[in-house]
Amino acid sequence: MTSIDTDRRLLLVHAHPDDETIGSGATMAKYAAEGARVTLVTCTLGEEGEVIGDEHAHRVAHLEDSLGEHREIELANAMEILGVADHRLLGGAGRYRDSGMMGVPDNDDPDCFWRADLLAPAADLVAIIREVRPQVLVTYDDFGGYGHPDHIQAHRVATYAAALAAAPSYRPDLGLPWEISKVYWMAFPKSVIRRGIAALTAIGDTSWFTTLDPDDLPFACEDEAVTTVINAEPYVDRKLAAMGAHATQISVEDGFFALSNSLGSQAMGLEYFRLVRGSVAGEIDSEGYETDLFAGL
Ligand SMILES: [Zn+2]
Repeated sequence: MTSIDTDRRLLLVHAHPDDETIGSGATMAKYAAEGARVTLVTCTLGEEGEVIGDEHAHRVAHLEDSLGEHREIELANAMEILGVADHRLLGGAGRYRDSGMMGVPDNDDPDCFWRADLLAPAADLVAIIREVRPQVLVTYDDFGGYGHPDHIQAHRVATYAAALAAAPSYRPDLGLPWEISKVYWMAFPKSVIRRGIAALTAIGDTSWFTTLDPDDLPFACEDEAVTTVINAEPYVDRKLAAMGAHATQISVEDGFFALSNSLGSQAMGLEYFRLVRGSVAGEIDSEGYETDLFAGL
């Protein structure tokens, strides 16, 4: 059991259960294993998420509204696998409801995250920031990675809360002001996607992934914008196991699992980020990337 090194505190703000594992699971496992305090805030329970497999079909939202509850359990199991003890649901379970994809009727639900007055979830997050006092915040870019309303809203709430948490005049009842030193957006560099497609094509793979064009992918990021890579290859097994814990969302037969078999753990263990507040520091790798989220602190 590693003792928690309270000198290094990392906060991640994600939209739905499973986003944290897919986007940043290896990084979370690595820093947790190295003794940093890792805190995950999930904004909604993903009640509108599509459900994979017959076993969980009865949990589909609105028919029998137990999907959120079930996903809370999946999230807890995934966090246990990643070694992340501190995970919270923004405002408490069920406070902000999954908004569904852009343009669907769920976006009009007054309880959905997308409709929330930005100041309410931001205040919930300010209380967490002032309590945990993270030096590093990880969240999505301003397009929410791929345009899902909850991801865009998670970006806005995290950005807004980071600013408000540092302002002594804002809600002193929520704790002493705290300024986050480094803010990162998760990133998926185009060159990495191209290399992955080339590697799969070379071994004769013809799956959906090889048909993609990085220039058409909304989540693909220009390489010049990417500043940082976390090499967490030893934690890929945990990341995959945590994905498996999100059984209503991620199929073990395809997608990431198939990719991980084909591309190997080295590719799966690299997670990329864009530094948008603070300065790149510390060791720089041969591709010019910063290699530690806490570097320079
Ligand atoms: Zn999501």
